[in-house]
Amino acid sequence: MSFTLAIVGRPNVGKSTLFNRLVGKRLALVDDQPGVTRDLREGEARLGDLRFTVIDTAGLEEATDDSLQGRMRRLTERAVDMADVCLFMIDARAGVTPSDEVFANILRKRSAHVILAANKAEGAAADAGVFEAYGLGLGEPIRLSAEHGEGLNELYAALMPLA
Ligand code: GDP
Ligand code: MG
Repeated sequence: MSFTLAIVGRPNVGKSTLFNRLVGKRLALVDDQPGVTRDLREGEARLGDLRFTVIDTAGLEEATDDSLQGRMRRLTERAVDMADVCLFMIDARAGVTPSDEVFANILRKRSAHVILAANKAEGAAADAGVFEAYGLGLGEPIRLSAEHGEGLNELYAALMPLA
């Protein structure tokens, strides 16, 4: 039995960095629906002895201002529906932004199983943002540095019960 994890959150928080770290060169599948390929990437993840499917929500970075909100919502909802669990990522250096609140509300409305991650958390500059993340009401944040590979043991502990 394996599970599917969707990495969701606003642009630039580090979703793809974590996806690439989990998947490495094993990027296996892409959605072949027209116009969707760039928006959802799917790969086979490895974390310790865990094997699972991971979905990266992308494609929002190029959206124009007026379409961003709607696209974010649709894409995130689609990823949530495909997944058993969502990793909701914020940027600990930026703290919780209004855009993060929008995503948190989508996940709440969807009753998604959420693991909260405060990324870019290497170093003391991230402390305030990590504390702010508690205020989202989505549980205790995992302190993560996708770029430096820190906090992956905590991510492992959160995912292990799903395997
Ligand atoms: P996405 O838009 O959410 O997929 O974000 P990306 O993975 O493309 O990352 C956005 C930027 O944040 C890039 O410049 C990354 O190098 C940087 N980044 C990602 N993870 C970390 C991290 O753990 N620490 C720091 N300092 N930067 C990070
Ligand atoms: Mg990305």
